[in-house]
Amino acid sequence: MYDVVIIGSGPAGFTAGIYCIRAGLKTLILAGVRWGGQLMLTTLVENYPGFIDGIQGPDLMTNMRKQVERLGVEILNIDFEKGDFTRRPFSLTADGKTFQAKAVIISTGADSKWLEVPGEAQLRGKGISTCATCDAFFFRNKDVVVVGGGDSAMEEALVLAKVAKSVTIIHRRGEFRASLAMQKRVFSEPKISVIWNKAVRKVLGDTHVTGMILKDQVTSQESEFKTDGIFVAIGHIPNTDRLKGLEIDRKGYIVRREVSENGLLKYRSSASIEGVFVGGDVHDYNYKQAVTAAGFGCIAALDVIRFLDENK
Ligand code: NAP
Repeated sequence: MYDVVIIGSGPAGFTAGIYCIRAGLKTLILAGVRWGGQLMLTTLVENYPGFIDGIQGPDLMTNMRKQVERLGVEILNIDFEKGDFTRRPFSLTADGKTFQAKAVIISTGADSKWLEVPGEAQLRGKGISTCATCDAFFFRNKDVVVVGGGDSAMEEALVLAKVAKSVTIIHRRGEFRASLAMQKRVFSEPKISVIWNKAVRKVLGDTHVTGMILKDQVTSQESEFKTDGIFVAIGHIPNTDRLKGLEIDRKGYIVRREVSENGLLKYRSSASIEGVFVGGDVHDYNYKQAVTAAGFGCIAALDVIRFLDENK
């Protein structure tokens, strides 16, 4: 029996772990086989405070994990399968084993979105990727495309520009939504060019990507664009498919509630079931930063501490 089981091991889950264990709670983190969340797939993180020259994403997560372990949190690298949230203590299954928890924090994060166009699924891993840090090496001196207009797309393009012959960012609108700082870096990289107002209709290739069909968003005209590789960077989908019984919003994110008592805020991170709390990208489609995820993890832990105190 655990006081709290935390599902997920990104900045939210690890931060929650730090606060829970320091409050004396018996704490388990179900970290997942691929632990560490999205930062394990990123490179330099310059916007997490405390690192003068920035820090590599995987190093940041390894540090967080070591800190949590040193404090005494139990961490298992197994995948959460299902939870029975109908009664307390809650019953959680991971890797065929069952764990009982008086409270649960859900911090399962979000995963990359795919284009969902013909040809994409067949060619995944054969020229299509969502992780330049992982796969850029395979595109040394090749022509590659990045699809998307947010910070992720900028970051992918900059990583690829270090090894590829050329990088073309294809965006469906006439302006990026990425931060100005990231745009500035992209526009000053001579290997990167941009195609505006084009949507990907189809991925071409037999055993490997050879190109794509693009549709002009203004004229509706379709054209072929040759490329050796495609990096899809169009956002994320929250990991909620195994969380049956909890309220999910229309975008697929867990609904987070503020609970007040006598006009005073009691919990800020409650899910739709009492005793289940939520932190990080799995409920947040606005901010989606490592530092905000960590902050939400802290809030969820503080709410759990209060909840367990009041429900001894
Ligand atoms: P995002 O900000 O939601 O941007 C997604 C981009 O993909 C948008 O430009 C969107 O186009 C486009 N898009 C979405 N669906 C598409 C589709 N089906 N076909 C073509 N294009 C599509 O997602 P993100 O770039 O992953 O960033 C998520 C959050 O993480 C942001 O808050 C970002 O600031 C943060 N982040 C920060 C860093 C950093 O600071 N180093 C790095 C990565 C991410 P529209 O613009 O037309 O909607």
